[in-house]
Amino acid sequence: MLFMLIDMDYFFAACEEHRRPELKGKPFVVGTSPESQKGFGVVQTSNYVAREFGVRSGMSVAKAMSLCKELIYVESDDEYYESISKRIIELLRDFSLPMEAMSIDEWAVALGDMSIEAALKEGQKIKERIKEEIGLPCTIGISSSKIYSKMVCDEAKPDGLEAVPLDEIKEFIKDKEVSKIPGIGPKAAAQLEGIGITKIGEITSKSPMLLIEKMGSLGTFVYNVARGADESGVQESEQVLSIGRETTLTHGADKESIDAAMEKLVGLTILEVEKRGMMFKGVSAKVRYQDFSEKIKSAKLKNYTASKEMLSRKSKELIAGLITEKPVRKVGVRVYSLTNAAGQKGLF
Ligand SMILES: [Mg+2]
Repeated sequence: MLFMLIDMDYFFAACEEHRRPELKGKPFVVGTSPESQKGFGVVQTSNYVAREFGVRSGMSVAKAMSLCKELIYVESDDEYYESISKRIIELLRDFSLPMEAMSIDEWAVALGDMSIEAALKEGQKIKERIKEEIGLPCTIGISSSKIYSKMVCDEAKPDGLEAVPLDEIKEFIKDKEVSKIPGIGPKAAAQLEGIGITKIGEITSKSPMLLIEKMGSLGTFVYNVARGADESGVQESEQVLSIGRETTLTHGADKESIDAAMEKLVGLTILEVEKRGMMFKGVSAKVRYQDFSEKIKSAKLKNYTASKEMLSRKSKELIAGLITEKPVRKVGVRVYSLTNAAGQKGLF
């Protein structure tokens, strides 16, 4: 089994640089307002330039300012970051892989029994699409569990893509600090240090009983991580919920080229539906206009189907209701309310 962890690089700062390119190359932080925090604004994230001055997230804005005189303060805009996060999720759904959101800018993806080579190719595709369509950099780690892929990802930052197979993972993590294990905070790290452990490789020199005695269930967890036996997967609830495709149109697309693009997307979507042995009841069509605003229309069919004609008719009907005088930049088709065509429970 392989897993992939996708983590956006310095996400809030990258979002701000994206809409305000003049910030590029200058030191800045995204923070919560000093006013709302009674004069103690906190740095949520900083760009790489600010990091060179020693500015870190969690630091007070005042402290950051004292470290770097030219530091620019940008007020955090959660709504904007959410909207970008949603667009990334939408894009990732095109890959039709089971997925779990770990945070606003981090996703774990189950790759099944894909080979390392195929996984790296898939990772490259995802990186390129996020770069092209969202305009932001991310790093992807690939390994045999969710936790390991996160650790590989952390190491490959920024703008990286790296895979470490199961038989190399022990070696890969053994010299790292225990705090590099996701979920091991300062308290757990101190507990481990109390029994003489600072590096991950040292954990297996202790008996699991001792670790459990000192740390409870975390003891079992770190022991398994250290010996290369972690099997954390993505949450079961995050199965394939929808299948869809979208495409960017050339400037000023007319109705004819929109219809042609839709027909192609319908074909690709049905191909994926068939490949997965699924049927669907829900159909949605999406338009992104030239000004980047988006509209989606959805409809439920009477019965489950995998019919291309049905999807074609329904999605064109939906898209017709979305075409106005506004120039269209992108169109998409998606099916949801999926069921296994064989009538079994579960999707795989
Ligand atoms: Mg991130």
